[in-house]
Amino acid sequence: MDEVLHRLKQGIRRFQTEIYPARAEQYERVMNEPQRPHTLIITCADSRLQPDILTQADPGEIFVSRNIGNMVPTYGETSGGVDAVLEYAVAALGVQHIAICGHTNCGAMKALLEPGSAEAMPSVSAWLGHAQAALAAAHALASPEDNLLRVITEQNVLLQMSHLRTYPVVADALAKGKVHLSGWVYDISAGQVSLCYDGSTAFHGV
Ligand SMILES: [Zn+2]
Repeated sequence: MDEVLHRLKQGIRRFQTEIYPARAEQYERVMNEPQRPHTLIITCADSRLQPDILTQADPGEIFVSRNIGNMVPTYGETSGGVDAVLEYAVAALGVQHIAICGHTNCGAMKALLEPGSAEAMPSVSAWLGHAQAALAAAHALASPEDNLLRVITEQNVLLQMSHLRTYPVVADALAKGKVHLSGWVYDISAGQVSLCYDGSTAFHGV
């Protein structure tokens, strides 16, 4: 058996002996009723980001969609499946909140700042196109003393929040007050999260 699979199996066994027993009743209860997550979190695929742990969410509380750079292609574009997740979360599950969660030291944001760095990965390169407007905004807004990576990370979260509003299902739910949006930047090494909501473009600590 390869070493990595061995490591994964060890993890599953530890879950079964240390984590599952204490929560068995909870897992059984949530699986015996339809899921009713209150929130859809769209975040980066980065392996260092753990949305369940960050939000201390119990099983059934958050519906999660992950992709490189926490992107939401605008409605009608090749979406990488984000459109189906959005529709299902809003129309079928009735989530009350959608959060776009970016993070510090994001490889996707770094790649945007270094044009050509993803050239050998055509699919990644094409996907990064969904954040090109954030790159333009970051260059326009950042002053010399600003951390450009931080600025583009925030601008990308704001851009993807605006892309969310291009989906009819989201626009309808927003207009009816059934759903609210927020943007997050998670500083993984510091354990800090800055939030932006209610139409503001400024990020503030929790
Ligand atoms: Zn990332």
